[in-house]
Amino acid sequence: MTLPSTPPLPLADRYERFRDSVFSGLEEPTRLPGFDEPLCELDLQSLWFCGSFGSEFKTEDGRTVKITDFGSWNAGAGPDFNGVSMLIDGQAVRGDVELDPDVRDWERHLHAGNPEYNKVVLHVFLSSPQNQKHFTRTSNHLDVPQVQLTAAMLAVDAAPKSRDAAARIGRCATPLRDMEPARITSMLESAAQFRLQAKSRRLYRIIAASGREQAIYQALAQTLGYLHNQRPFAILSQRLPLNRMLKEPTAQREALLFGVSGFLEMARPDDIQKDSRAYLRGLWSHWWKIRQSCSRWMEPQQMLRWKMTAIRPGNHPQRRLGALLAILANWEVVAPPLMDATRWSLAAWRDTVAGLKHDFWSSHYSLSADEAESPMALVGATRVHEMLANVVYPLLVPERTRLWAEYLELPALLDNQKVRKAITRLFGDHPDAANFRKLLFQHQGLLQIYEDFCLADDSACADCPFPERLKEW
Ligand code: SF4
Repeated sequence: MTLPSTPPLPLADRYERFRDSVFSGLEEPTRLPGFDEPLCELDLQSLWFCGSFGSEFKTEDGRTVKITDFGSWNAGAGPDFNGVSMLIDGQAVRGDVELDPDVRDWERHLHAGNPEYNKVVLHVFLSSPQNQKHFTRTSNHLDVPQVQLTAAMLAVDAAPKSRDAAARIGRCATPLRDMEPARITSMLESAAQFRLQAKSRRLYRIIAASGREQAIYQALAQTLGYLHNQRPFAILSQRLPLNRMLKEPTAQREALLFGVSGFLEMARPDDIQKDSRAYLRGLWSHWWKIRQSCSRWMEPQQMLRWKMTAIRPGNHPQRRLGALLAILANWEVVAPPLMDATRWSLAAWRDTVAGLKHDFWSSHYSLSADEAESPMALVGATRVHEMLANVVYPLLVPERTRLWAEYLELPALLDNQKVRKAITRLFGDHPDAANFRKLLFQHQGLLQIYEDFCLADDSACADCPFPERLKEW
């Protein structure tokens, strides 16, 4: 049914203008190719800060910019990032960086008249109106170089693949049924290595932007956020970087992580169990003293967005944050095998991480849950496995290629929904289907094929080139 076109009703029109003015310049979701969800300013800042857009740019007036140090994420008033070092046309420049979804946000947010923005040396933005030039000027009349980010700069693998395909037998199941198992295995191994290489590139980009130790910390934190809280964990580890966390006394470190995460603000005293109150009081006793220094991150739009619903108690983000605390407290044993590939020992590292403990979090699922009857593994076998697949081997295999043979033997512990769909679509009732889902590399290879072909297909397999090309393998 088509609605008759009518002139706007005056009250509705007034409300619409009011609503648009409220949202204008505040929260401006931005769509980027590859991202299913619109990105908010916070996501963009996180991607910029970990080097996903790269580190070399051209300014709007043609100068070259090379970021040599992405600085620190500002917790107070003023520009987004402080202490950023860069070369502009080869000349060393150090100062602040402001990142906005739209070039006009500089004026909309009144930065031009605000002396706190006088140290901005680079204004980065994603969009700008066509055929209009907008300059970025400080209150002391300096012209700030501008860099426009584009979707093409964004690393192709920066976007999480959250699309899905139907769980039904695909057209490729027929030729795969006739293919020798050794050829299928070789294809899965190659696809798995391709996937690992993409993960390596992502990690090495973070290393280039933030240094190896920070990249490891950030990647481990992000793995603790699997599946739905990766971005908040990434942002938390970017805002509270490793070098700062390691300098903080334990109690202060815990208060910072739980405070900046927003979990302390969310905790309602009535919901807190008796045995948790002392722990919560301890966190608050430090947090209230430092909260003001993180005031910007406590503003509604700067708060982290956690997914807390439909999550198993053991995967609660608060408990995962407890695991991050344990990792930080034991950094001197967790990090060295990852800092130097020659020191790597799978069994030793797995034991170290699986054996991490925390006085409170080893027996609590969340700040509001009852104490568990007996202590639980803080970083379970599945989580360790995720760390191996997403951090350890992508980091170490490029440096020590014989670790690939070790990777090939890792069992698959987690049978996620996408793997199950990939198995159904590709193998259907193949007599050996079960043999292609036992090992981690098989899962990774299947996921790669699923993402490259099944998620790219909109024709219910009819136009997918994969079945016909299989014989070339
Ligand atoms: S889309 Fe292609 S790869 Fe996926 S199940 Fe169909 S034929 Fe196979």
